[in-house]
Amino acid sequence: MTSRIVVTGASGGIGAACVEAFQAEGAEVVGIDLETSSDADEHLVVDLESPECGLQIAGLLGERPLHGLVNNAALQINAPADAASAEAFDRIYAVNLRAPLLVSAAIRPALKQSRGFIVNVASVHAVATSKNVSLYAATKGGLVAMTRALAVEWGPEVRVNAVLPGAIETEMLLDGFSRSGNTIEDLAKKHPLDRIGQPSEVAEAVVFLAHNKFATGTTLILDGGATSRLSTE
Ligand code: NAD
Repeated sequence: MTSRIVVTGASGGIGAACVEAFQAEGAEVVGIDLETSSDADEHLVVDLESPECGLQIAGLLGERPLHGLVNNAALQINAPADAASAEAFDRIYAVNLRAPLLVSAAIRPALKQSRGFIVNVASVHAVATSKNVSLYAATKGGLVAMTRALAVEWGPEVRVNAVLPGAIETEMLLDGFSRSGNTIEDLAKKHPLDRIGQPSEVAEAVVFLAHNKFATGTTLILDGGATSRLSTE
């Protein structure tokens, strides 16, 4: 039977790479995004900021079998911690942390049936971070903790893992840079591998976690060595 995989944020950089990677191995991919299209076989426009997003997605997916979910969509809001508004926190929390839980819970029955998987796309900001990223880092730290909690609660039928990418060349990263004044070259030099990552490299890690049958509660850092380097070096 053809696998059917759901990818949120399917129109973005890493989401599109995940769509392509699963399609390359013959899966049918359902993309979800605010954007009206993606390269997925089926595309659903759903606002993950809504508390109804889980039920809405479950309704749109219907009764067909489902084998995996990649919770990839996210917002990045940068602000000094003491200037971050409650509205900004509620918004980023809704998309980056609440939606992965609501969507996972809503489609868990189908994943339980297929002994399927969930891969959460978190971030290295869950473990090492920078200034002005407290809201984003908090949601990604929460997503890593939630990955472990769901792995414990939903095993053995559903495996739940997370990938924690470092700097990856996508709109989200380039947008942050255009506002900071730093250059990609400076950032690349801070990595032991002397470069930032590509969306396809994150997709490879997502596919690995999707398939490895002994992986659950795993949090895989994929950052070109950035978090391994002491800042005092
Ligand atoms: P991106 O901005 O290219 O893609 C994010 C996608 O999420 C977009 O298509 C956007 O429309 C969608 N989205 C945002 N809010 C939504 C909402 N309310 N409802 C539905 N869809 C919504 O970003 P990306 O760089 O591809 O990031 C993908 C994932 O990787 C995110 O979880 C991000 O936090 C994570 N990540 C990215 C990097 C990086 O350097 N690019 C590093 C670490 C982690």
